[in-house]
Parts: sequence; structure tokens; C-alpha cells
Amino acid sequence: MDRRRKTPSVPQISHTAHARPPISTIIICGPQVYLIAATLMRFLILSDIHANATALDAALVAAEDRWERILCLGDIVDYGPDPNEVTDRVKALAPVIIRGNHDKAVAGLTDLEGFNPVAQIAAQWTREQLRPDNVDYIAQLPAGPVSSDGLTLVHGAYQDEDEYVFVPGQAMGGLLESPSDVTFFGHTHHQGGFSYRAGHIGVIQLRPEPGPKFAALRLEAGTRYLLNPGSIGQPRDGDPRAAFAIADLDHQVIEFWRVPYDIGAVQDRMYKAGLPPPLIDRLAAGR
Ligand code: ZN
Repeated sequence: MDRRRKTPSVPQISHTAHARPPISTIIICGPQVYLIAATLMRFLILSDIHANATALDAALVAAEDRWERILCLGDIVDYGPDPNEVTDRVKALAPVIIRGNHDKAVAGLTDLEGFNPVAQIAAQWTREQLRPDNVDYIAQLPAGPVSSDGLTLVHGAYQDEDEYVFVPGQAMGGLLESPSDVTFFGHTHHQGGFSYRAGHIGVIQLRPEPGPKFAALRLEAGTRYLLNPGSIGQPRDGDPRAAFAIADLDHQVIEFWRVPYDIGAVQDRMYKAGLPPPLIDRLAAGR
């Protein structure tokens, strides 16, 4: 996949995250000209959009021109006021995508008994709103783990798509068993993750500064990672900004982004739809 590194005569280019070379770069080096074609592969990683079109749009604007392929870790709908709008946008983006537990529930693949009463009301409302073609799209989403381009995607835990990974003990299975050194997971709505090297698990906590900002994690050779991009549509890690990640594998960097969006506009649509107040209030708290 990384053809540039297999060409030792090509000099390494260095640049900052804010000034990236284009997809095809010509490097002039003495009398020789090297053409590096389409070697840069950056992945936009979205999870837990939860029918929040305003947050998704803000994330896509912030990430514009910074990715070549989208990976989506599931829970595209439920909780939020825009199930059809978000499903239409996701379809148009054509990501590599897996399903989440809420996708299964609203598509009727599981019943709502595992959900608390507030979540049951939202899931029932979402079922009533979704157009049949969008229900069909959601129902056919594959379960994780799915591997693509050297990365592995799961919604919850590596062994069980419905299990939460909050602490190192829950991360161990995915860190050891995934076929990829870098595995992305969602479900907890907490941005960050875990690393594993020589029998030691590390906890990765990144706190991007105010504004549309990212914190960068440099990947180390010989270390395995289980990383959560955070939730686009309903963050629960205390930061209400929309969360996502960009994986720049050519430069071995993962960017963990936070982007402000118009939370009040989403809350207004939720009130008008009659969605439960606890779901409306938590957007502003990021909890
Ligand atoms: Zn979720």
C-alpha cells in the first residue's frame, strides 16, 4: 500500500499537518524527477453520528480536503432528529461501514428490550421516521470486525459488537486479537483509546484545544492500537463538540478532532419532534 517507502531513492518529504502535499506529488531531486502517484491515503473515521446532521456537516467541513476514504463505525441513526438526512448523507459518502447496536435496533434486527425507557422512545420514533429505502440500507450494514486498507473496524469490542470498551481490561482482547496494528472502535462515545507494547497497556487521552482543533497521535512501530474517534452526534466524554479522527497512515499520524457545531439548532429540532428531554439536554453537556 505504501509504495513510496518501497522506493529508497525517493527522498522523504516532510511537512506539517496543515500543509500537506497533493495526492500526486512531483519531487525534483538533482537531475532526476520522481513522480509519486496516489500514495497518500488518509482516512476520515466517523462513529456514532446518531442522526445529528448539523454535527456531521460541521465535521465534514472541518475535514474537507484532508481525506481520501471514509470509514464509519456504526450507529448512524437513533437519538438525534435527522435519521433520513444522515442516512442519505452517509449513503452518498459511500464509506466502508459497519453497523452499530442502534442501527440493528431501528432496522428491527433486535428488539428494544435492552434499551432504557428513554432510548426505547427515541428508537421507536426513529423507526417511524425512516423511509423504507433507508431502513433497507441500515438493515444490510455488516457487523464488525471488518478490515480494510490495513485498518480494522469494530463498533463495540473486537469480540462482541455490543460490548463497551471503557477500561484497559476490556481493550485487551481487541489489542491482542485484531489482525491490524491499528483498530478503530466506537460505541462508548469517548474519544481516545489504548495502546499495547511488550505486555504493557497504555491509555490514550487526547484533549484538543478550543475551536475546531485536533490533537495528533504519532504511531510507533511495534505498538498496537485500539482507538476511538469519539462520537459525531452525541459525545459523552465531557466535550460537547463533534468528535472524529483522521488516520494518515503514510505519515503514521492519527488526528483526533473536535469541532463546534450549532447544538441549539439540533435541540430545537429534537423539541419539535417530541424526543425525550434527557437526550436533548445531554448534547450541550457532552455527557
Ligand atoms: Zn452510539
